Amino acid sequence: MKLENKNHQIAIDGPAGSGKSTIAKLLARKLKCLYIDSGAMYRAVTLYIIENDLLNKSENTITRHLKKIKITFRENKKGQAVILNNKDVSKKIRSLVVSKEVSKVSSKKNVRKELVKRQREIAKNQFIVMDGRDIGTTVFPEADLKIYLTASPYIRAIRRKKDLENLSERISTNALIKQIQRRDDLDSSRMISPLSKAQDAIVIDTTNLTISNVLKLINSFLPA
Ligand code: C5P
Repeated sequence: MKLENKNHQIAIDGPAGSGKSTIAKLLARKLKCLYIDSGAMYRAVTLYIIENDLLNKSENTITRHLKKIKITFRENKKGQAVILNNKDVSKKIRSLVVSKEVSKVSSKKNVRKELVKRQREIAKNQFIVMDGRDIGTTVFPEADLKIYLTASPYIRAIRRKKDLENLSERISTNALIKQIQRRDDLDSSRMISPLSKAQDAIVIDTTNLTISNVLKLINSFLPA
């Protein structure tokens, strides 16, 4: 199998702050292929739901809104911008309020059904690296390579704290550890495609590894 061929998928899953997005982005750059952050799609839907006061509405109401939610990605100098209905929401979707609600929104059956469908459409005839929670188990069960990243809750909280500081949001490390653990619990215990390691995924604990070490490791598993 040649990775330069189209229609290949690399799935990178794992809990919040395990390093998925950083690694997936760099890997896609190295392989000159498309990168999609599926978490950004769930975050964009959550932002729409918050902004339209739909948080406490029924699943039927939310489902009716899904077709009005257009999510696209645009390459820019800083990397990849997330566009929700023609507005750049790259910063807003990383806010604490979105992080607090996203697991609840992403546990909804029709939200998942719609986003998994869109993720598969984006990947059609593409060589793609996608990161998330269910990419290796549900979105691309036949992916050419599946990586599952983990790290200790403390180090994951420290990484997220740095991201939040760049957005001028402040939260204590302890509060962030709690928020991350709550999100892990919700994501791992939901009924539909929970956060879980695919049986054939390679597990990498990134707690004590540098970004370049993780990339080197993944590189060694890439098909020739
Ligand atoms: O990756 P990130 O932490 O930005 O993801 C935000 C949230 O989106 C996760 O906590 C999870 O609830 C949801 N998600 C998901 N399935 C994915 C990607 C993200 O349920 N494939």
